[in-house]
Amino acid sequence: MPFVVTENCIRCKYTDCVEVCPVDCFHEGPNFLVIDPVECIDCTLCEPECPAKAIFPEDDVPAGQEHFVALNAELSAQWPVITTRKEPLAEAAEWDGKPDKLQYLQR
Ligand code: SF4
Ligand code: SF4
Repeated sequence: MPFVVTENCIRCKYTDCVEVCPVDCFHEGPNFLVIDPVECIDCTLCEPECPAKAIFPEDDVPAGQEHFVALNAELSAQWPVITTRKEPLAEAAEWDGKPDKLQYLQR
């Protein structure tokens, strides 16, 4: 059961998660990260590292965010791998916790 990045990562992208992943399964888009469900070995290391609490096991994704499972699979096939932490987006703190951010996802 792979882990999944959900809505609260959008416009935050703190990237604390990427350095702990032993199999480099995070992929980076303009304002969101996703996990490659094929590469993820379910080690659980990334989940507590996310300041935005955006990472969940696939079976425990919050109600209403189930579509992020398919979105992680789709976008991880398109976006490049990220393995090194970088500065979060400038407006990260402002957007942390805001609802309905899917509309702002840049592909
Ligand atoms: S730490 Fe959380 S908010 Fe930051 S990039 Fe990773 S999943 Fe997104
Ligand atoms: S659970 Fe482990 S393998 Fe999967 S994305 Fe997180 S750190 Fe990587």
